[in-house]
Amino acid sequence: MNQPLMSTYPPQVVTFVRGEGSRLYDDQGRSYLDFLSGLAVTSLGHSHPAVADAVAEQVRTLSHVSNLYGTTIGPEVASTLDRLIGGPPGKVFFCNSGAEANECALKLARKFGGRGRHVVVSAYGSFHGRTLATLHATGQPQKHEAFQPLPEGFRHVAWDDLDALESALDPTVAAVLLEPVQGEGGVNPATTEYFAGVRKLCDERGVLFMVDEVQTGLGRTGEWFGFQHFGVQPDVVTMAKALGNGMPIGACWARDDVAAAFEPGDHATTYGGQPLASSAARAVLQVMQQLDAPARARRAGQRLTAALEALPGVHEVRGLGLLLAAELVPGIDAKAVAAACLDAGLVVNPITASALRLAPSLLVSDEEIDEAVALLGGVLAATDPT
Ligand SMILES: *Cc1c(COP(=O)(O)O)cnc(C)c1O
Repeated sequence: MNQPLMSTYPPQVVTFVRGEGSRLYDDQGRSYLDFLSGLAVTSLGHSHPAVADAVAEQVRTLSHVSNLYGTTIGPEVASTLDRLIGGPPGKVFFCNSGAEANECALKLARKFGGRGRHVVVSAYGSFHGRTLATLHATGQPQKHEAFQPLPEGFRHVAWDDLDALESALDPTVAAVLLEPVQGEGGVNPATTEYFAGVRKLCDERGVLFMVDEVQTGLGRTGEWFGFQHFGVQPDVVTMAKALGNGMPIGACWARDDVAAAFEPGDHATTYGGQPLASSAARAVLQVMQQLDAPARARRAGQRLTAALEALPGVHEVRGLGLLLAAELVPGIDAKAVAAACLDAGLVVNPITASALRLAPSLLVSDEEIDEAVALLGGVLAATDPT
């Protein structure tokens, strides 16, 4: 059969047609437990009724008018985000994806820094997106090569290494951009010492501390935002994935005086912040606040971590809240295990050659956790280390 999509992903082995809560259903009628959530996107589970109703009602009322005119829902969502981020007040720019949220942050850092002060320092092993600029911010040189020359003004330093960062902070640096937990890089949490040290260095050098919360934001790690584990206040926060629970929406928040660097005409978007996408975000934030989603993630994360640690075949578990990686016993191939899990009805993701990423819905039940761990246990028991 002719494949109509560009080959940017490996051939797909399962075709999903429906989802409800933590369950997915394929075109053969088989059911799966989803412990990936579409890459940490459907944090309230699939087809959450409050989000579905909000979007259905909004699409019948007003979807889009462009940002040349006022709307009411986007500003409301922005105020909620500002409150949840805490600290000094800030402002929000809405967009449609994580990469776009980071593009906004990169442009803002350049405008704030001024001519000659435009370099953004990020970490090896990071992931910040696939546009040309966010690809260069992404600290994975093997992903850069085919697309050289990339926009200039990016520098990478070893993760969790304050000396390396200090050496990289010359007067051309406008900002440091870090994830609180490196997601795509293998689920590597930062430490309080590291983030506190970064904050201090940034303050001393007059450099912005920008945090990429695209994967970690909105309750996933057991706090509203990942940086809140580390007792620091960043200057810029980007987010996307969970914000719309599947409706495409991203956001870049910045402290008021930083946000003030943008004047009309500096940055723009056709769709960003439109009523339809914003209606999903408003419903997501309402439900998350009602249910205290961060606390649910913390509790469920403890249960999942303990159950995974008890599995023979799991060497160690790392991560925060419900953004976890199970590092397998040496010799077990994570890709093969993930494929066997899919066969067995469990969706997990081989985040490295030797580790599985688990990111279930924040509303996952104890029974679903136990069922998923039993499925994984069965697969691991049938797997011979090579
Ligand atoms: C997924 C991700 C991105 C990119 O988001 P897109 O919506 O795919 O553009 C950026 N940063 C982090 C930390 C991510 O996990």
